[in-house]
Amino acid sequence: MSIASVNPATGETIKTFEALNESQINEKLQLAALTFRSYRHTTLAEREAMLLRAAGILESEKDDFARLMTTEMGKPIKGAVGEAEKCALVCRYYAENAKHHLADQLVETNASKSYVCFQPLGPVLAVMPWNFPFWQVFRFAAPALMAGNVGLLKHASNVPQCALAIEDIFRRAGFPEGTLQTLLVGSDAVQRILEDPRIVAATLTGSEPAGRSVASIAGKQIKKTVLELGGSDPFIVMPSADLDEAVITAVKARTINNGQSCIAAKRFIVATEIYDSFERRFVEEMKRLQVGDPLNESTDIGPLATEQILKDVDEQVKTSVAAGAIVLTGGKRLDQRGNFYEPTVLINVPSDSPASCEEIFGPVAMLFRVNNIDEAIELGNATSFGLGAAAWTNDVNEQKRFAAELEAGSVFLNGMVASDPRLPFGGIKSSGYGRELSEFGIREFVNIKTVWVR
Ligand code: NAP
Repeated sequence: MSIASVNPATGETIKTFEALNESQINEKLQLAALTFRSYRHTTLAEREAMLLRAAGILESEKDDFARLMTTEMGKPIKGAVGEAEKCALVCRYYAENAKHHLADQLVETNASKSYVCFQPLGPVLAVMPWNFPFWQVFRFAAPALMAGNVGLLKHASNVPQCALAIEDIFRRAGFPEGTLQTLLVGSDAVQRILEDPRIVAATLTGSEPAGRSVASIAGKQIKKTVLELGGSDPFIVMPSADLDEAVITAVKARTINNGQSCIAAKRFIVATEIYDSFERRFVEEMKRLQVGDPLNESTDIGPLATEQILKDVDEQVKTSVAAGAIVLTGGKRLDQRGNFYEPTVLINVPSDSPASCEEIFGPVAMLFRVNNIDEAIELGNATSFGLGAAAWTNDVNEQKRFAAELEAGSVFLNGMVASDPRLPFGGIKSSGYGRELSEFGIREFVNIKTVWVR
């Protein structure tokens, strides 16, 4: 895949980039290694001040960054502004809290003194996706840099300008040259970079195949990895739920970011008592969504990020329909330029069809009817993924069962799965391992060192 900004709303190529050659990659790896030697000795207060400056830049220039995101990958502009603000929030969160997360911990043993301290590991490779082109990077970089590591960003090949803008934010915030560098390279260069001894660990947010590849290369090198992969989150609605709120949230949870979110609700599992009403209202709301120019403030759904993603979604829907799924609304691309796909609702989806087994990265919802909570939990867990799960019920016993029995990295009750700097984020099963955000996230790329004094 070439490295290029192509506006997904128009198909226009905005800018193309040459991938770095071998000697340029080598120079950047060398700079990272050298920078780490001194950066690791900066104080937490110095890092805090730089991260707060990064937050200030994100806030004051959020409209420019939002426009960049929207023209490179098509997210509605309101969401893009919110993304820049959320990046500022994660910077402020770690600027304020890293000193608590990383403070030495005294432990009583038979020693005169024993304690645990947290030291940086070194240059970390971050392989990142295009769907939240700023947020994914900041949620890695803010804690990693606060902990004293340096980062090398291999961003997705369709968001090179976002990648360069992020590098520039860290530079302008005062971080030493080489603390966060963008590597404009394709995925074919990842193996060589990951095998380089100057890289000590890696994090990847992206698809399952990319995760498997990075984990196996890093495994051979015995390098730590964190993987944030795909999801097929269930959204369960039980009879006691507030149906109006559940329907509105369900539509938002499926279509946020044009349906291209790992934690988007993708399978809607509804109790039979309320199923018909839920289906009718859900389809009505999906039909009401405004699809169009993502730079327009009133647009709900913009184009899918690339022509290939549009083709993949279309193919997944067509194959599922051929296997027996029924389309209640949508089901095809819009007959106009740009990668637009109609908000779609499917029912009768066979369990072995692509819609059911694979992650659909577009505005396509599937509805399922269940007779009771046992069936809801069984169907909710009937996926190889385990990222997030939402359940709507006002019955306390049902809430307890969903919290305990849904197989996912997070369970949201009467709400939409979302990330929050204060809470750990990540998955189980094929959705990956390790955690980002909160104190758990900042501890992923540190040496948890035991010190024991007789
Ligand atoms: P992707 O194709 O896996 O790409 C993600 C990143 O990995 C890109 O930088 C890509 O580079 C690189 N890459 C692709 N194949 C690789 C390989 N074999 N070895 C090394 N690097 C490789 O995923 P995407 O389509 O951009 O993003 C969508 C996926 O990300 C979805 O599955 C979504 O659920 C997941 N996601 C997960 C989370 C989470 O937190 N769990 C968050 C957001 C997205 P190129 O662009 O150069 O190919």
